Amino acid sequence: MSALAPLTDPLTGTCLCGAVQITVTAVHPEVDICHCTMCQRWGGAFYAGVKGADVSVSGDDAVAVYRSSAWAERAFCKQCGSNLWYCFLPTGSRSFLAGLFDLPPGFGIEQQIFIDEKPDWYDLAQTSPMKTGAATIAEAKAAGFTFE
Ligand SMILES: [Zn+2]
Ligand SMILES: [Zn+2]
Repeated sequence: MSALAPLTDPLTGTCLCGAVQITVTAVHPEVDICHCTMCQRWGGAFYAGVKGADVSVSGDDAVAVYRSSAWAERAFCKQCGSNLWYCFLPTGSRSFLAGLFDLPPGFGIEQQIFIDEKPDWYDLAQTSPMKTGAATIAEAKAAGFTFE
C-alpha cells in the first residue's frame, strides 16, 4: 500500500453510452493492474482499476453482473458493453475500470499482479511493484482469504 493521499474531490465516471454513472470519493491516486488471463479475456488486455470510498451507481437497470469465479464478480453495461467493475466477493470490495473516469494527471501504478501471465506484446513503462500469480494468491491466503 502506498501512503499517497486520496483525491479530495469525488470523481464521476461513465460507461461508453452513458447509461451507467459511478461516483467515487477519496479515490486512491494509483491504478491497480492485473495481467491474468481472465482479465485479458474480459477486457482485451490488462485490467486497470481504481478504488475509493462512498460509491454510488446510477443506471442500475443497465448493469449486468457476471460471476467470473468463486471469489469474484465482474460488472458491465448491458447497453454498450463497457466493463464497469471487479468485485472481490470475500470482502465485497470493488475496483472500477480506470478508463471510465477522466482521471487527473499524475496517477501512478500501485502494483501489477499476475505479471507471469502478461503477454509479450506490451509492457507498462511506469515502474511499479510486480507480483506473480502465485505470489498474489499466497499474499491473499496469508491475509485469510480462501479461493476454493
Ligand atoms: Zn453503457
Ligand atoms: Zn486479473
